[in-house]
Amino acid sequence: MAITADQAAHIRTLLDEGTTQRQVAITTGVSKGRIAALVRRGFVVSERIPKNAISFHGEPVRCSGCGGKVWMPCVVCEMENAKITAKARLNELLDLLMK
Ligand SMILES: [Zn+2]
Repeated sequence: MAITADQAAHIRTLLDEGTTQRQVAITTGVSKGRIAALVRRGFVVSERIPKNAISFHGEPVRCSGCGGKVWMPCVVCEMENAKITAKARLNELLDLLMK
């Protein structure tokens, strides 16, 4: 079962109060492994993050598209792709108008 943002906030509060991860696991019913993972991720609940959202957590990676060091998905490449798509569409429209 996925942890909700509310649960994550509750777990964080308990840990901040000095409750051990083991005790938190017992009181909340969330496994110790999940709590440890939550702490590692900085209490970021993954279900709240849309699949296409850029994650600024961790180290940026080398983009295979533009070669820049970015957090994936690469915004630079997405912008470039959008520009190419827009240009192609504009050309299609112009072609239609010229006929
Ligand atoms: Zn890129």
